[in-house]
Amino acid sequence: TGSDRKLGVVLVGLGNYATHQLGPALRETQHCRLVGVVTGDAAKGAQWARDYGFPASSIYDYDTMDRMADNPDIDIVYAVTPNALHAEHCIKAAQAGKHVVSEKPFTVSVAEADQVIAACQKQDVKLSLGYRLHFDPYHAELRRLAASEEFGPFARMDGNFSFVMRNPQWRAEHGLAGGGPLMDLGVYIIQAALMAAGEQPPVAVTAKSLHKSRPEFFKDVEETLEWTMEFPRGERCRGYTSYNDNGNQFRAEAAKGWYQVGPAFGYRGLKASTSARGELSFPPFNQQAAQMDDFALCVKENRESKVNGEMGRRDMCIIEAIYRAMASGRRELV
Ligand code: NDP
Repeated sequence: TGSDRKLGVVLVGLGNYATHQLGPALRETQHCRLVGVVTGDAAKGAQWARDYGFPASSIYDYDTMDRMADNPDIDIVYAVTPNALHAEHCIKAAQAGKHVVSEKPFTVSVAEADQVIAACQKQDVKLSLGYRLHFDPYHAELRRLAASEEFGPFARMDGNFSFVMRNPQWRAEHGLAGGGPLMDLGVYIIQAALMAAGEQPPVAVTAKSLHKSRPEFFKDVEETLEWTMEFPRGERCRGYTSYNDNGNQFRAEAAKGWYQVGPAFGYRGLKASTSARGELSFPPFNQQAAQMDDFALCVKENRESKVNGEMGRRDMCIIEAIYRAMASGRRELV
């Protein structure tokens, strides 16, 4: 097990994101390789084994995840299932003695976040999240400007992340999604706002669920949500997220300048400008490969991921407060 050994990764849930982003990105990593999958679809698992060159014995289903404990090829298990299943799959991975990555949102509640963190601590495994934008240069620039206060501290932030959902899917079901677009898309605005505010959590939030154009489709989740976050030094962020609109931008303003990014939250093709330097441009970059390589190095070097369980738990506290505010119609403390 030399330090140049590639760590073995298992993807749990072979849906869109695993198939079109994470699998291909694993081929681009320096420190990882795909060594197995967990899937409810055996034929799909067999196809992945052929495509990625791992043995059929490394295809698991959701009931046989404990057997991963016996497979020394596996170092890291990455849950890419619907939101409400992340906790269960992360805990099974930890109990098999494997390091854990959870997709966003980390879980669907603070209580679940605590359970995952506790399971990882108990098994002494590391925990990271699919917060790929922490590895993206446009968001690094936002963090750099926040830290350097080149324009002064950011005081006003505004974010919108929305798309028009057409096909029936788990994202519109509370049971599997844990919520509506706030869980799925709003979490990116929360993350960007926290970057602009120097990673200090907000103290209070307000929120309002807007008109449902398709109440039968969005039965038990919000369709469109508008919310505000109030940070400790008085900074404010307004967020807007919808499954019936299009939007993909984030702006942060300070006394002496601003930073704007849009598209802000995609895998590639991000664009940004600042009041001082006009349009910024960074070379093409694979967020997912960088995210996974960083975690592999955390495991090898025995250090914490910068996108760890505590950060995910913090964001779940904010999301819960936003849902409390949506229900009460009042300002709620985080
Ligand atoms: P998909 O619906 O495309 O895939 C989810 C997969 O989970 C399914 O294909 C299935 O895999 C597995 N699964 C297990 N149980 C269920 C169930 N009860 N219902 C449905 N699927 C189930 O979703 P996505 O790939 O788009 O999203 C998966 C996760 O990744 C979500 O948490 C999402 O938030 C996150 N994501 C993150 C992104 C990012 O940029 N970081 C981007 C997109 C998604 P199988 O058939 O193999 O069992």
